[in-house]
Amino acid sequence: MSDPLRFLGGYPAATLDQVRDLIARDELGGYLQRRYPEAHAVRNDGALYEHAMALKQRYLRNAAPLAKVVYDNRLQIDQRALGTLTAVSRVQGGQLKAKREIRVAALFKDAPAEMLQMIVVHELAHLKERAHDKAFYALCQHMQPDYHQVEFDTRLYLTWRALQAA
Ligand SMILES: [Zn+2]
Repeated sequence: MSDPLRFLGGYPAATLDQVRDLIARDELGGYLQRRYPEAHAVRNDGALYEHAMALKQRYLRNAAPLAKVVYDNRLQIDQRALGTLTAVSRVQGGQLKAKREIRVAALFKDAPAEMLQMIVVHELAHLKERAHDKAFYALCQHMQPDYHQVEFDTRLYLTWRALQAA
């Protein structure tokens, strides 16, 4: 089995020790359940597109248009990527046009509401900021003030799922 803490790469050793401790005491699931009791109703691609467009309308009205926002069963999530933003280039009327698509790993259908939002916020922020730099994270926090906490907890959630599956 691969390392269940693989989703937490980059976090300080002391933090990882705390996570190991939670796991050893069998308290990781309870922590997540208490902190994120709410599921969401974004059950299909249509609802996901509307969810993303509502955030975009509110915070990124002038960013490049989004052609598609979908759940993707085949998206391999790893430590770095939990969703993707791609620009698919197509020739249209003799012009090369980039259609931007957000793909969200399908497991987030069953994740807490805040975690799905965090993934969408992250990919939306890439419409404006390419790199994972200060400006990028400031934009994420503008859209979701506890972005960093939710990202960390999402990694805990993935860890918890990996442990359940093992
Ligand atoms: Zn990113």
